[in-house]
Amino acid sequence: MADAASIPSSKRTSTPVVSCREVTRQYSRGADSLFSGQSQPTVTALDAISVDIHPGEFVGIAGPSGSGKSTLLHLLAGLDTPTNGHVTLSGTETTGLSEQRRARLRLENVGIVFQHFYLLPSISARSNVALPLVEHGVGKRTRWEKATGLLERVDLADRMGHKPGELSGGEQQRVAIARALVTDPDVVIADEPTGELDTATGEQIIEVLSESADDRAVIVASHDERVLEQTDRVIRLRDGQIVNNG
Ligand code: ADP
Repeated sequence: MADAASIPSSKRTSTPVVSCREVTRQYSRGADSLFSGQSQPTVTALDAISVDIHPGEFVGIAGPSGSGKSTLLHLLAGLDTPTNGHVTLSGTETTGLSEQRRARLRLENVGIVFQHFYLLPSISARSNVALPLVEHGVGKRTRWEKATGLLERVDLADRMGHKPGELSGGEQQRVAIARALVTDPDVVIADEPTGELDTATGEQIIEVLSESADDRAVIVASHDERVLEQTDRVIRLRDGQIVNNG
């Protein structure tokens, strides 16, 4: 694993693409807490954390189950907003934005890769990759060209017409990464992207993600130390706090 000092200085000094300042996220425990002996009606999933992520960085997020990884990813992706503190995504603070404005902010700036791929089963790999461009109002010919280029980049030139069910797990995840990249987002966020894959296939996926962190940030939450070893730095969480960031 590279330490902070080994990250090129151009990356450390550039404006962060995502930034959290003193961010706290609490959830309500719900009515059950009254009956289950819980003294607190809320759970603090993240507790006043601050993080900056710069263009070109490949960053891991680690920590035991329940430590706040998914909560942090959701905040960084603009899928959620903090209870307290500030999250800035591509220069825009997410708190106070309507759900519609946050959806637009995500559409324009964020690509998301999930553990379970979430490809549409009834359409081809190329149509899956092209889909986010429909919402961007991109014409059919350009959508086709961009999807083709990205599928070539993830080494799936000979699988473009296949439906997800005709592809292996690793191939489906590469289609999902191509789909996340097709809008040329500032940041790609991946939640346990190798969780469904065998070791060798997982390594290929991490290589593709690492190569994607050229002029954008790529953030990967993972339990797998072999995945985390490939990143520029790892933000380690425990009980909603950062215990290591380097
Ligand atoms: P991780 O991804 O590291 O497993 P999470 O971010 O999912 O951690 O969860 C952090 C804490 O917040 C846990 O205690 C979890 O039970 C709690 N939590 C997460 N989501 C919710 C929710 N929607 N409602 C109530 N508690 C939640």
